[in-house]
Amino acid sequence: MNDVSHAKRGGQAPPPTGEGIHYAVATPPYDEPFEVLPGLFWLRLRLPLRLNHVNVWLVDDGESWTVIDTGFNTPETRAVWHAVLAGPLGGRPVSRLLMTHYHPDHCGLAGHLCERTGAVLWATHTEWLTARLLALDTTESFNAAYEAYDRAAGLPEAFIEQRRQAGNMYRKRAGPPPASYRRVVAGEEIAMGGRRFEVIIGEGHAPEMITLLSREGDLLIAADQILPRISPVVAVSPNSPECDPLQEFLDSLHRYDAIGEDCLVLPSHGRPFRNLPARLAELRYHHEERLERAVATCREPATLFEIMPALFDIEIVPGQLGFALGETYAHMNHLLRRGLVERWRGEDGAWRFRAL
Ligand SMILES: [Zn+2]
Repeated sequence: MNDVSHAKRGGQAPPPTGEGIHYAVATPPYDEPFEVLPGLFWLRLRLPLRLNHVNVWLVDDGESWTVIDTGFNTPETRAVWHAVLAGPLGGRPVSRLLMTHYHPDHCGLAGHLCERTGAVLWATHTEWLTARLLALDTTESFNAAYEAYDRAAGLPEAFIEQRRQAGNMYRKRAGPPPASYRRVVAGEEIAMGGRRFEVIIGEGHAPEMITLLSREGDLLIAADQILPRISPVVAVSPNSPECDPLQEFLDSLHRYDAIGEDCLVLPSHGRPFRNLPARLAELRYHHEERLERAVATCREPATLFEIMPALFDIEIVPGQLGFALGETYAHMNHLLRRGLVERWRGEDGAWRFRAL
């Protein structure tokens, strides 16, 4: 049982369904491509966060390479790429850089690497647009939207000020992706590394994230949609404070229901694993359980900031406040849609939620 994860944060009991996942591959060292399957290499890049790494994939297309995701735009990550391009990938060009979604750990270096290698960027329309927009947005209204979101959450003034000072954090971690790209759409077939993959769009963590299922159903490049140990952040963003990404996430999980236990899943964080059906059951259970906690926390009227700690088993450190708040918004917006809570503005401008 040592290779089985119960996959819940905080070591809670697993859900009643599912036998748990099975890790398929040992963790390789950072910064060195490791061949997971013939012609498909796993590269682990460091992240300066509690989530300390991101997985990117290098696919041997014969004449050239496909790179999937890039890591942050930092001098350290650039140095790793320059070494990998000159060493393990040396001699053959990178023809295609596929970004799974707009988060900076996935596409922070897309612009830089495309420029350096001549690769064409492949992305969905929404993810390319969002990355390009956030990397270039220096408007005052960007900060104003964040401030309104923070106030509506009942965040203490000191935190609001800290976040205003930090400004657009996206720009600190990601350069703009190229101004032109090759659009990827749901259901299309992509040939890569001698295999054919179907594009399945994941939603909720990001709006139009690329995941790739091999035609044989034996390999899923899952991006952040399905991770083995942590549940992907499902958060409301300040640019769309009324949205319900949790419903989008749960709806899009159904697109993976027909995939069998033997499929090898390559996630963007953590280790490759098998038994996807069990992991899907765990993710659904996780969110139902968090929704129950959220309802229990607002038997008396409470702000999002007051509800937030109940949704996490770990202490929320300052660097994680944005994720935690976004996730709390997501659960409360979802409960509101389901008619399980009511909401009104307090005199301080912050939403108050109460269980119905
Ligand atoms: Zn992500």
